[in-house]
Amino acid sequence: MLDKYNREINYLRVSITDRCNLHCVYCRPKEGISLQGHEDILRYEEIIRVVSIAVKMGLIKVRVTGGEPLVRRGCIDFLSQLKKIDGLQDISLTTNGIFLEKCAQNIFDAGVSRINISLDSLNKDKYSKITREGDLDAVLRGIAKAEEVGFSPIKINTVAIKGFNDDEVLDFARLAVDKPFQIRFIELMSVGQPGLDCHKDYLPAKQLLQKISEHYELERIENNHNKSAGPARIFKIKGGRGEIGFINPVSHHFCSTCNRLRLTSDGKLRACLLNEAEIDLKKALRENCSDAELEKLIWDAVLLKPKQHDLICTENILKKCTRNMSEIGG
Ligand code: SAM
Repeated sequence: MLDKYNREINYLRVSITDRCNLHCVYCRPKEGISLQGHEDILRYEEIIRVVSIAVKMGLIKVRVTGGEPLVRRGCIDFLSQLKKIDGLQDISLTTNGIFLEKCAQNIFDAGVSRINISLDSLNKDKYSKITREGDLDAVLRGIAKAEEVGFSPIKINTVAIKGFNDDEVLDFARLAVDKPFQIRFIELMSVGQPGLDCHKDYLPAKQLLQKISEHYELERIENNHNKSAGPARIFKIKGGRGEIGFINPVSHHFCSTCNRLRLTSDGKLRACLLNEAEIDLKKALRENCSDAELEKLIWDAVLLKPKQHDLICTENILKKCTRNMSEIGG
């Protein structure tokens, strides 16, 4: 699927629920959000239908996310249904890792071999604070289980927050020395109603890179040698087992190579995380649209893709994306 700017769109992120067992302060408020009801969210069979049609149009990759995908009942069966879609080459999952110890093997057996696990601090108290009561030990056990089961790659998503985890950058780098993980530092974006000041707490990735390179010898890996890297700039640490990645949506956007669409938990197809335009697939699905009509709506979304987002670190940054990340799918 080629968009107006000649980008090949072949990747879909699917948020299967806006619910989450954690309330990370930069992601969603703890109280005061109205959660979507059972009827509001897309049924699994509706998602499978959308993906099957999109695959015929050129989709090859799907990432299942949320909210926390593993809190939705039936998630693992859904993953195995996705796996059966002919032509879908790659299925991955993003999770906070809390339930991984219990279900990593089942996820792997369902056909998902690539997993991203969010982890913003290696300190128990800080982890609990940023996630509003998450249990760091549970995540670490989940990561260990994922490694034991054979997930590859295992990517650790760490949102960089000024004054919160910038003092842990070298601890995370050490993790990439000791373990075959890809530690990805993500710049904080102003999405939804975050419980922190995304302007004040934003930390440009280049500062982290600078700090790490003062202690470790880094070798840049080109993305075409590492097809699963996506927009991350990846470095190998000399002598280490893993890699370090930087995802800079704010300081250095990667819109010119963006290949994504997002399916929100309530069935809207969104062409850009940071642009409010959406196409309502749920309405069409529930009015028994034909496959041709669905295909046309998917095209409409592709053609809606803006040349680039305008989320930059300025004073009006907070106006740019009103929906919470958990609904859109991070
Ligand atoms: N519950 C899963 C998890 O924790 O990984 C999946 C959903 S979560 C929304 C997906 C990713 O989005 C996480 O890695 C999270 O850190 C990232 N994220 C959420 N809000 C963000 C923000 N404001 N800026 C940057 N990354 C964010």
